Amino acid sequence: MSAFAHWTYTKYNGKLMLVDLQGVGLKLTDIAVATWDLLDKATNDLLFGMDNIARKAIVDFTQNHKCSVYCVYLSLPVIEVLSDTMSEYLGSEVQINQNEHETAEEVAL
Ligand SMILES: [Zn+2]
Repeated sequence: MSAFAHWTYTKYNGKLMLVDLQGVGLKLTDIAVATWDLLDKATNDLLFGMDNIARKAIVDFTQNHKCSVYCVYLSLPVIEVLSDTMSEYLGSEVQINQNEHETAEEVAL
């Protein structure tokens, strides 16, 4: 599940990701969405409503995620750890490190 969260982080360039992934079998339940910006820039509407747990969840993910062998299989880039302070300085911009894992041995199994 953590590799899937990593994939969503990468897919949306750190601007949107799925977090709090839980489930039974192949069914995911109680998924939360986190977006870097809380408001839609065009309409000023709240993105994904009140359940959007926002930037803090994305920063927490970069600080706590440990890549698994599945991240390597998906050729996901290494995540650059964001500090809480960095998230404030970066404003609406977040940088994705495009370095890939070299081998599966680099990651915890
Ligand atoms: Zn990962």
